Amino acid sequence: MAARETVRQRPLTGEPVAVDLLNTRWVAGTEHHDLLDSLDGLAQWLDESGLAPRFEAGPTALDHLLSTRSALARLLEDPRDPEAAADLNAVLAHGSVRRRLDRGAPASTVEFDAPSWGPAWTAAADFLDLRERPDRIRGCANPGCVLHFFDTSKNGTRRWCSMSGCGNRAKAARHHARERAGRTA
Ligand SMILES: [Zn+2]
Repeated sequence: MAARETVRQRPLTGEPVAVDLLNTRWVAGTEHHDLLDSLDGLAQWLDESGLAPRFEAGPTALDHLLSTRSALARLLEDPRDPEAAADLNAVLAHGSVRRRLDRGAPASTVEFDAPSWGPAWTAAADFLDLRERPDRIRGCANPGCVLHFFDTSKNGTRRWCSMSGCGNRAKAARHHARERAGRTA
């Protein structure tokens, strides 16, 4: 693979691929970032999401991913949004799972209408899996943060995209509020 000129540092990676697709957009200070604004960014995302060995970055794959990301974002706002569901289902219609028995073990392969559907289909299918626990897909509790996460904590108490990012900022803000309250008391 050719070396890319710049790798853009995302504040949060490592979430399941559907959530990780949403997290290609983030806000730093007042600046909005979108990793999927270029083919280089797409190649980086395929690397970071673990899809790179299977799928290639191309303009068609990027188009499919952007419409999938938009559908996912709308479905998190309203899980019953019929247009967003139709958009997601249209993506899912471009792949099908073939199951078989392989030397005594269950195996499956996914077949796509075209390879360019691979990344979008994989993210859409992952979203269906995550929807088994719908309350665990959440947005960061910082209103200024647009990141999402899939809460795998035992009690489902995760609030922040990351403790080192928004979690720390909230802690510092509470600390300052207490200090101010102490001074005026
Ligand atoms: Zn956050």
